[in-house]
Amino acid sequence: MACIFCQIISGDLSSDILYQDERVIAIRDINPQAPTHLLIMPKVHIASLADVTDEQGALLARLVYVVNLLAKREGIAEKGYRLVTNCGPDAGQAVPHLHFHLLGGRALGGLG
Ligand code: AMP
Ligand code: ZN
Repeated sequence: MACIFCQIISGDLSSDILYQDERVIAIRDINPQAPTHLLIMPKVHIASLADVTDEQGALLARLVYVVNLLAKREGIAEKGYRLVTNCGPDAGQAVPHLHFHLLGGRALGGLG
């Protein structure tokens, strides 16, 4: 299995897992760009946002639920946070397994 996030999900690769349920897992990014930098992703392998189907709406809602749960847990819900997903080469997507970056804990500036 080549996908590193699938390896984390299966337990073959260790990671700092902050949350998981049947459908969703959240880990701490290994190379944080902000005091809080988490990755929230589906356990099922979806290559990117471009591959999400209409039938996966409930899964997307669950991902957002976990984002908000962890934002509260990390203490960034009140001051605010940013949710980012890189989709494809121009966005610099390095890992082809859909994931949302949850960033916060400092003023994040403009999108540049
Ligand atoms: P992207 O460029 O959107 O595909 O983001 C991939 C993210 O995964 C980067 O922020 C990396 O720092 C992060 N990353 C890569 N490998 C690991 C890992 N083993 N554990 C946690 N985060 C990772
Ligand atoms: Zn995967």
